[in-house]
Amino acid sequence: MAVLAGLRVEHRRWIASHGPLLDELRRQLSDDEFTAAVVELILELDPQVESPVSARQEARRLLSLMLANSEVAIRLLSSGARVIVIPRHVRMTDIPPFERLRGRLLEGESAGGRCWDAVRGSGGLQSAVTEENLLGEISSVAGEISVYAHGYSTTTHEIAHTIHQYGLTDADRVAIHEAYLEKRSTSEEWPDGSRPYRKLDGKWVQMENYSSSNELEYFAQLTNAYLGTNHGVDSFTKEPRNNGIGWVCKNEKRLLPILERIYGKNPSKPDGAANAVATTTLHSETLEAIRQLFQDSAMD
Ligand SMILES: [Zn+2]
Repeated sequence: MAVLAGLRVEHRRWIASHGPLLDELRRQLSDDEFTAAVVELILELDPQVESPVSARQEARRLLSLMLANSEVAIRLLSSGARVIVIPRHVRMTDIPPFERLRGRLLEGESAGGRCWDAVRGSGGLQSAVTEENLLGEISSVAGEISVYAHGYSTTTHEIAHTIHQYGLTDADRVAIHEAYLEKRSTSEEWPDGSRPYRKLDGKWVQMENYSSSNELEYFAQLTNAYLGTNHGVDSFTKEPRNNGIGWVCKNEKRLLPILERIYGKNPSKPDGAANAVATTTLHSETLEAIRQLFQDSAMD
C-alpha cells in the first residue's frame, strides 16, 4: 500500500478511474488489502497540512471503517470521489477543489445563513475533512464553530454524505428517502435527539434537529451514531445527540440492514476515539506544564 500512497495524485486518480484495473485488484487482494488500497486511492492531503503523518493515519483509520464494502468502494472510485484533508489553519475555500465556494452562502434548510468561507467540511463528490477534527485540535479559521465536541466526527459525517450520494445504489437511496419521510410522520427520536417545541413570538413552534432537517443530514448523522462518533449536543436544539450501535439497533430498524451492509455489523470503536479534543488539550496542557517546570528550574 506504501507504493499506492507514494504515487502522484494524477496517477492515483487514473488507477481509481480504471475499472478493469480495480476489478483485477479486487480479485488479487484480500478484503482488508482491497479496502486499504481504496483508502490510498481516495485519500488526499493538502500539502499545507501541519501534521501529515498523524492526520493521514487517523483518516486511514476512519476511511477503513467506512469503506469495508467493496461494492460501495468501487462505486465511489468509479464516480471519481475523493476525500481531501483541509489544513487546520487554512480556509476550506482557499483549497483548489473548493475555491468556487468562496464568498457564497450555504443553501438549504440546515444552512442557517452560514458562509462557506467559515465552514469546516463538505460532503460532495470531493469531500472535505479537516486536520483539526482528525487530530482533536482547534482551528484558527474564524466564524465557524471553533471546536466540535470530543468524540464528534465531522470526518465520518462528511464521508457519509459522499457514500450516500456516490457509493450507494438507487434502491438504497430510495430506502433512505422513504425511511426519512416515515420518520418525519411517526417518530420523535432522531440521531440528534427530539424535535422539541419552543415558544417563538408567543407561538409554540416545533424545532428541527440537525438530523431531522433533511434526508442527507439524517443519513450522515445516523452513520455517525452507528459508528459511535456522534457525541455532544445538537447544534439546533442544544439537546444531547444519540450515539452508539445500541441506540441505532433499537430506534433505526428500517435502515439497520443498509448500515450493516455498508459498515459491517459491529464497526464501532471505543467511545471518544474520534476528534479527541479533551485528550489533545490535556496532552498540550501537560506538555506546557512540563515546559514551564523546566523554564522555572532553569531560572532558579
Ligand atoms: Zn452534513
